[in-house]
Amino acid sequence: MTRLTTLLRPIVLVAIVSTSWIAYTQTQKPARPLKIEKVKGDLYMVSGDGGNVALYVTTEGVILVDDMFYRNHDDILAQVKAVTDKPLRYVINTHQHDDHAGGDALMLPIAEVIAHKNARANLVAHRTPYFEDTPGTPIGLPRITFTDETSVFLGGKETRAHWFGRGHTSGDAIIYFPDLKVIHTGDLFLAQQPGRAGAPARPPGSNLFVDSSQGGSLLDWTKTLEGALSLDFDTVIPGHGPVSTKDDVRAFRAGVAAMQTRLRDLVRAGTSKESLVKTIEADYGWRATGCPPAPPTGGCLQYQQFDALIAELKK
Ligand SMILES: [Zn+2]
Repeated sequence: MTRLTTLLRPIVLVAIVSTSWIAYTQTQKPARPLKIEKVKGDLYMVSGDGGNVALYVTTEGVILVDDMFYRNHDDILAQVKAVTDKPLRYVINTHQHDDHAGGDALMLPIAEVIAHKNARANLVAHRTPYFEDTPGTPIGLPRITFTDETSVFLGGKETRAHWFGRGHTSGDAIIYFPDLKVIHTGDLFLAQQPGRAGAPARPPGSNLFVDSSQGGSLLDWTKTLEGALSLDFDTVIPGHGPVSTKDDVRAFRAGVAAMQTRLRDLVRAGTSKESLVKTIEADYGWRATGCPPAPPTGGCLQYQQFDALIAELKK
């Protein structure tokens, strides 16, 4: 190796890193402004972009559940400052999708980040195709993982993370605030957004997304929600949408159960993929028409993993 190539090597490396950084920053959407609302006691919900964030204030510091996209980091810290001067201490991920855990890389230097072991493993494996909204975003690996259950005790308050099984992914945690009887469900439960005028009403559960490539399961989903429903709670922070109730989660679980039975019966009766796609578009509102088979496209993610879903329903 000549002296010249030795000298050039770091320059080439810097060029590659900065080129991919430019590609990443140029494809990013701007962050939408966040808002904060009180849920109960010292528990707040931050929303406005990505998944809902729970913000729990204690006398010893703040615990967050999820941290949205990478682009939302500064605004999330501003929301913490707006309600307390206590330091941020812990971030618990409901799962690894980048609209929920996308800020982990920026949180790791300032807080302990905790996730289910499967959520961390999914981040390590970083499967391609990557069914996320912002591929190329820097990934932060949680330092602490758990299997079935773990708790953070801070300022005399408990925040507990439960893993009840597969559903949206293989690593979905239900976060429980026992003192307040509130749970954060991540994307295992999605609140019904107020529909656009004239849009057909969909049964609860229609808006789910089974991320088969990251261990999700439509058939296990209901059992996992039954685990969540075994907890004593009355108020729910959903993965997306407004603050909800335990009855909303029950209705969602019933909707998923009906969908499981219907789709499984159709698949086992030998219904063609084309006909199945028509059914899910008409009855559940999953977008398929106009969706490319690849790469992963916002609004098309469930359709783009339809073969994997059919394979699961055939079992
Ligand atoms: Zn998700």
